[in-house]
Amino acid sequence: MRLVLLGPPGAGKGTQSARLVEKLGIPQLSTGDMLRAAVAAGTPIGLKAKAIMDAGQLVPDEIVIGIIDQRIDEPDCAKGFILDGFPRTVAQAEALRELLAKKGIGLDAVVELVVDENALVDRMRKRVEETLAAGKPVRADDNPESFRTRLDAYRKQTAPVSAYYAEKGELKKVDGMLPIDEVTAAIDKTLGH
Ligand code: ADP
Repeated sequence: MRLVLLGPPGAGKGTQSARLVEKLGIPQLSTGDMLRAAVAAGTPIGLKAKAIMDAGQLVPDEIVIGIIDQRIDEPDCAKGFILDGFPRTVAQAEALRELLAKKGIGLDAVVELVVDENALVDRMRKRVEETLAAGKPVRADDNPESFRTRLDAYRKQTAPVSAYYAEKGELKKVDGMLPIDEVTAAIDKTLGH
């Protein structure tokens, strides 16, 4: 199963991806996680991406496209993968279609978690509180200012990605405002499980 999960920051893509990983036995490919790992390791990509990410903006398309292109070739992706946080621009969506076609594969499903924007800032604040309470480090971009920039980037650059897949008849929408288990059930149903 090759799956794309779409939705704004704080929509619950990470939570739902983790459940799908368990159920389907395929890896979650989060460009955000991969970029944070590159930042932590101080690789050339990490050095380039850090300031952009901290401000809540999108890193250049060619960087994330290159990362995903290579990652999909790893053996653990042979049975499929869940893309979380990619594609985030229409250019990335087009590049994804092309690079998959070159590998002789395609997507099985594109699922969007639809959430009320007003809830997102509250969710982000809660995530920060819980992270601090657990004694873990808070992400540099989990502050109200960067979060607003991330929402803005979502509205301007990523919302058109939903429209791109909808136009092709490939988009399935799930209500992300439901309780976590109900969102999981709705995704399962959408995927025909
Ligand atoms: P969230 O889903 O909470 O917005 P992510 O962990 O997916 O955050 O991404 C964090 C940051 O990493 C983004 O704000 C952006 O700077 C960068 N990033 C992740 N994925 C992409 C992508 N596909 N294209 C461009 N930038 C990305």
